[in-house]
Amino acid sequence: MLTPYEVYVGAECVGCGKCIDVCERDCFVMLEDSKVGLRADYVCVGCMKCIEGCAYNALSVKELIRRQYRGIW
Ligand code: SF4
Ligand code: SF4
Repeated sequence: MLTPYEVYVGAECVGCGKCIDVCERDCFVMLEDSKVGLRADYVCVGCMKCIEGCAYNALSVKELIRRQYRGIW
């Protein structure tokens, strides 16, 4: 399944783990260098809970599917 939203983790990430706690889709994983990354097969539903929860403003979420298929639907 393609993720309808693409998630970016910026350099501001300090690895606090809050986004891991709040994401009901389990999109995030802690990396060895104390930052978070995305699971290879993550499916983000765009709920924005991770954005709201990140005190470091490190995350961005972009709608992907609609942009990708605009003009076809
Ligand atoms: S909540 Fe923000 S700072 Fe904390 S681990 Fe997630 S992206 Fe990094
Ligand atoms: S927007 Fe929601 S589903 Fe997507 S990564 Fe953030 S918390 Fe998870």
